[in-house]
Amino acid sequence: MTKKVGDIDDESVVASIRQRNVEYAKKYRQKNSEKIRRLIECECGSTYAYYNCTQHMRTKKHCQWMETQQMMKQIADLKKQLVSK
Ligand SMILES: [Zn+2]
Repeated sequence: MTKKVGDIDDESVVASIRQRNVEYAKKYRQKNSEKIRRLIECECGSTYAYYNCTQHMRTKKHCQWMETQQMMKQIADLKKQLVSK
């Protein structure tokens, strides 16, 4: 038997699903706390916790590092083109 989201109108059912999700997230964090808190050294020179990965990728320092890397690559490519000509 399959139920569509719209079919669940019983608030207690919704509440129990929500509760289950909360508990699942809690268990996941407990089980993976080491993994989540593990510090990662980024190539940009910063250190960030695993759970902060997405946020770190958006930081100014990391973005500037990414831009620099791209520029370096472009310069390297240009040099290669000049050499091959
Ligand atoms: Zn970084």
